[in-house]
Amino acid sequence: MDAFRAWADVDLDALDQNLAAIRTAVGPGVVIMLVVKADAYGHGAIAIAHRAARVGVGAFGVGTASEALELRRAGICEPILVLGTIVDEEVTSCLHHDIHIGLHSTSRCRALQETAARQNRTALVHLNVDTGMGRLGVLPGRAVELLEEIRSASHLQLAGVMTHISSPSGDSTSGICEQSARFEGVLTEARRRNLLGGWVHMSNSAGLFSGTSPLYDAVRVGISAYGVAPKEAQWGENLSPVMSLRTRIVFLKDLPAGSTVGYDGTFELNEMRRIATLPVGYNDGVPWRLSNKGEVLVRGQRAPIVGRVSMDYTTIDVTDIPGAAVDDVATLIGSDGTETILLRDVAECAETIPYEVACSIGKRVARVFRARTPELAAAIQPEASTVTTPG
Ligand SMILES: *Cc1c(COP(=O)(O)O)cnc(C)c1O
Repeated sequence: MDAFRAWADVDLDALDQNLAAIRTAVGPGVVIMLVVKADAYGHGAIAIAHRAARVGVGAFGVGTASEALELRRAGICEPILVLGTIVDEEVTSCLHHDIHIGLHSTSRCRALQETAARQNRTALVHLNVDTGMGRLGVLPGRAVELLEEIRSASHLQLAGVMTHISSPSGDSTSGICEQSARFEGVLTEARRRNLLGGWVHMSNSAGLFSGTSPLYDAVRVGISAYGVAPKEAQWGENLSPVMSLRTRIVFLKDLPAGSTVGYDGTFELNEMRRIATLPVGYNDGVPWRLSNKGEVLVRGQRAPIVGRVSMDYTTIDVTDIPGAAVDDVATLIGSDGTETILLRDVAECAETIPYEVACSIGKRVARVFRARTPELAAAIQPEASTVTTPG
């Protein structure tokens, strides 16, 4: 582990704990669909999915067909839903691997039916109803018509009816209520005509943790499982961060007054300062917007980022940290001693959202999976992860 230039510690026990909190919130009868798109928000989709499957997650949500197939290849047998849409070239492989597909239009419906019929397979589809997202999804007025079409298609099977909440923070509870009223209208009519099938699902983390969304048969949770509570969370204190981002000081020098630091010389020293270089930049999850603004933990203390964050390097001022030395661990996200920097803190400082920061931790940052229960940790695909126990 210590050979890494930069690494993300992924705490699988924290994941278990968060999933347990989610289970408590949803009760026993509801399927937890863990959203593992974008490599599980940068946490490492394969290891996260294996661990989650062992602690009772019943389905996975992904962004693209290739993400779904990656999980299948890694031995994930639970239902996997491509939340958005696939493209034509991906239909065959999705059918072959029983990937659930979001459906939002008549033309899509016909194309899927044709391919599935030709290959003598059944396409598992979830009708996506647009109740306020304005993106993919059929408008409520046309949803029942599309359900009729799915019903009459010989090679389509309705595996779910879904809608997506447009508030990820849960701060628009009235918006969530309006969306669920529109969704409920579709469901009522569909029930009346006996067109429903599979799981009805709506809630994301915000809907669940704000208590404003009906849970139906399944919840699609991402960010909360990774330990970031939606702002309006009622149970947010039960969530703990899964990921920490760390590196080490690779160089240290005293720069004299008058020197500037980094691209464009945006930071000028008016006295001698001790400047440390960290081998991580915006490709490694340190947002460019943290330039001259963010903080890093070294020896349990906060050190300010000085100068511009670049693609590969970040510079910090460690003048006030006694004993700071080359090889010291620097924590960009996570805890060191009594100090903590949360993903949310980084996002706020960079004027973005935690989702974007997590997804920007590039592939040259090693993911180090940690678990107190080594036998469980060891069961995770070894080629996909490095497993260690703390201590
Ligand atoms: C990403 C996504 C989710 C998960 O949202 P969180 O806010 O991370 O819980 C749920 N549903 C859909 C359709 C998504 O795209």
